[in-house]
Amino acid sequence: MINFSERLLSDCTTIRLGGTAKHFAECGTEEEIIETLKYGRENNLGVFVLGGGSNVIFPDEGYEGIVLKINLKGISFDYDTVTVRAGEDWDSFVKSTVDNGYTGLECLSGIPGTAGATPIQNVGAYGVEVGNHLIDVAAIDRDSLEKIVITAADCAFSYRNSRFKSFDKDKFIITEVRFKLAKNGGPVIKYPELANYIGTFLDLNSLKGIDKILAVRDAVIKIRRRKSMIYDENDTDSHSCGSFFTNPVINKHNFDEFMSICTKKDLKPPYFSEKNNFKVSAAWLIENSGFNKGFNMNGAGISGKHTLAIVNRGGTTNDVIALSNHIKSTVLENFGILLEMEPILAAYR
Ligand SMILES: Cc1cc2nc3c(=O)[nH]c(=O)nc-3n(C[C@H](O)[C@H](O)[C@H](O)COP(=O)(O)OP(=O)(O)OC[C@H]3O[C@@H](n4cnc5c(N)ncnc54)[C@H](O)[C@@H]3O)c2cc1C
Repeated sequence: MINFSERLLSDCTTIRLGGTAKHFAECGTEEEIIETLKYGRENNLGVFVLGGGSNVIFPDEGYEGIVLKINLKGISFDYDTVTVRAGEDWDSFVKSTVDNGYTGLECLSGIPGTAGATPIQNVGAYGVEVGNHLIDVAAIDRDSLEKIVITAADCAFSYRNSRFKSFDKDKFIITEVRFKLAKNGGPVIKYPELANYIGTFLDLNSLKGIDKILAVRDAVIKIRRRKSMIYDENDTDSHSCGSFFTNPVINKHNFDEFMSICTKKDLKPPYFSEKNNFKVSAAWLIENSGFNKGFNMNGAGISGKHTLAIVNRGGTTNDVIALSNHIKSTVLENFGILLEMEPILAAYR
């Protein structure tokens, strides 16, 4: 028997937006998930799967169907294999891997949300993506209601993307994720900003074992907090979905056009690290289209600490979408590049 309650969705999301869901179900077992999916099917109600609500925006009108909150809990360690159930808080899970002497996920510290959502957009930060360490995911097929296992090779991971966000969007509910992590290894620091911070403030060589991994985790959290990239009820700049736009990857032809626009506008182009894969900094495009940190439009704004984060300034979902559209059309007009939104707009399935 599923217990549905009525829930204000703005209380369930980090951007604190969204009206009411009349059918809100918290599922702590796979059987409850399957029962809820069946109920939706029999009653012609769409089902939206909710983790921690840190990458989703619900309409001001609320959600007409069922909101299925994933509450599956549990973490287990077996040599170099670590298994986490989908409803575990991601950052607490990362902390437990570090506390147990595992390396691999420390650079992904401080990211809000649940473990089960991380494969959806191949969550990444500071040079590491979950896909780098993932073995497989256990999932429920929403159509057949069967349980299956999908290996990392079949997840189609790429930059902030996977099959779960592209060709198989809304097909699976992830119930468990397995990672292969190194036990008693050293932390790997790939990202220049993190390396600089550590070089300036820490003497990693004086630390050993878990203390060394903990120091890297701490550094990541400190850097993120400075940018309001740690969700904090008291920090309104963190009332966001994190980065609102992905960094566009353009082809050679568009890259050449972009460079000639920069020359015409007398702008120093952003740094490109990949030779044939031209990933442009979305933050650079936004700033050079006239938007600065702290910009506000009605009830939405740009974080005072991070150009890529659109924040709720006491407004509505419509305000956030209007600001996002305004930024997108201005960047397109200025540089001929279309920005893509990173968070998911909840729509009826
Ligand atoms: C302050 C802040 C900082 C952030 N920093 C980063 C960052 O550094 N890097 C990064 O990649 N992201 C970042 N994010 C975005 C977000 O935290 C991640 O995308 C996170 O993985 C979303 O998890 P969630 O549980 O909150 O998912 P939700 O927001 O609840 O859901 C997101 C999507 O995943 C689906 N989903 C959720 N759980 C499941 C499941 N078990 N099975 C199937 N589908 C599911 C939902 O239906 C929805 O489509 C940040 C967000 C905030 C607010």
